[in-house]
Amino acid sequence: MNWIEQHIRNLAKTSGFEEADAKRLFVRKLHVSIDVELRSNRTYRLAFIYAVNLLSRIFPSLTFDELPVSKLPILPWTGSKPLGAFENPELTLHFGQGSAHEAFVTANCHRWHVLIDSPHTPTAEEEWNPVLALLTACYATGRACKLLLGDALAGRGFYEPFSILDFDRGEVEFDWSRDSDIGHVTSAGIGAIGSAFLFALASHGMASGRLSLVDHDLLDRPNLCRYSFFTEEEIGTMKVLSAKRRLDSQGMQLEVKQFGQRFETYFDENYHRDPRFRVEQLISAPDRRDTRRRFQGKLPRRLWDASTGSNQVVLHHNEYDPRLACLTCIYPETPDENAHLRHVADALNLPLERILSGASITTADASAIHSKYPQLAVEDVIGKEFDSVFRQLCSASEIRTGASQSVLAPLSFVSAIAGVLLYFEFIKSLNPEVFGSFQLYNYTYLDPLTNPNPSFRRLKNRSSDCVCADPRYRKVFADIWHQ
Ligand SMILES: [Zn+2]
Repeated sequence: MNWIEQHIRNLAKTSGFEEADAKRLFVRKLHVSIDVELRSNRTYRLAFIYAVNLLSRIFPSLTFDELPVSKLPILPWTGSKPLGAFENPELTLHFGQGSAHEAFVTANCHRWHVLIDSPHTPTAEEEWNPVLALLTACYATGRACKLLLGDALAGRGFYEPFSILDFDRGEVEFDWSRDSDIGHVTSAGIGAIGSAFLFALASHGMASGRLSLVDHDLLDRPNLCRYSFFTEEEIGTMKVLSAKRRLDSQGMQLEVKQFGQRFETYFDENYHRDPRFRVEQLISAPDRRDTRRRFQGKLPRRLWDASTGSNQVVLHHNEYDPRLACLTCIYPETPDENAHLRHVADALNLPLERILSGASITTADASAIHSKYPQLAVEDVIGKEFDSVFRQLCSASEIRTGASQSVLAPLSFVSAIAGVLLYFEFIKSLNPEVFGSFQLYNYTYLDPLTNPNPSFRRLKNRSSDCVCADPRYRKVFADIWHQ
């Protein structure tokens, strides 16, 4: 069975689509192309490669111009050639010049600006900007999804030109080809967002220092439609191990270590071994609110976090400044959250206590899940997180398949926007002399199907009822980091 059939079966199985609906919506004649003269430009080349990566995980029968020789196409089916073949595409996504219409999307980028369906005359001299390239690919994918899925996909799906610096017209000088010493970074949670973060790190390719990858899970098939750093060949392997191998092959001066465990366990074990153990910089991308709070509870000196919900991306970073919000202020425990967990419990046919336990799925849990969803094999869900299985059953974006039925389908570009922006926030923090005036906030909210709105960036203050308002917490943090 090839990736196209697997993908459709997978969508039907995990999102609740009728197979016929999944085929009708996702087996489409989409072509991705790039102007011949832009193929020599690094930024355009990367944008093209990443758009093919993201779109191949949504519309697997797509075709595309020949991919440049590179270590980064990372198509889900582990090749560099299209699986589909057709004469007349119903939609073409084109990197370069052209005039946009219903069946032709143009994608360009220029000096920090993303230009989707906007007139532009690109040149092969466009300066190197990997983050701009990746975000252009994400938004081009969003536009293509809207045109192919139409009213089935709720959201505007149309973008005015904007700068990725301030979501307005901002520009600044920055040399992306200079070495970037990242110190010691711990990346916890290598899921859809973590994948895009690592893709951005690898595309930039200039990091030196140390990276610790922490995630306890194996790569499974359903997630391949959102995990842009992985291929089918790696199904069943530890994500941290596959990610390390791929990063090692990029030729960076970066020492990558992998830890196949939960971040909390990783931290506690190291701390008990050596009380001087610290997490200096944490990239946080787990899939639950309460996990985020536990990450913050380990008191990393600096933290960058990204999350996605249905039609939203949220970013936050902090240095535990007493005046400003921490990750727990941003994701406090809410009655709403227990409502969500109750919903997960009901959906999975389990008591709420099992979900609250934070444990992985046992054989007994798996049997209960299987009795409600016979299509989910017991052995396929044992050992997984409750939330991961729940997300498999209803993933990122809502798709209407008919007059009344609507289901949630995973759309790769949503978590890709989150992961690439997470990398950009990290780079901005490392280079305050360049980006300081573009990072006067600690909270960003955006809707991936419309223009990012500058006024949804805010500097959030500490919440007075958060644990971080407790002077004892602050004292522990101060003792750890400033003694
Ligand atoms: Zn707080």
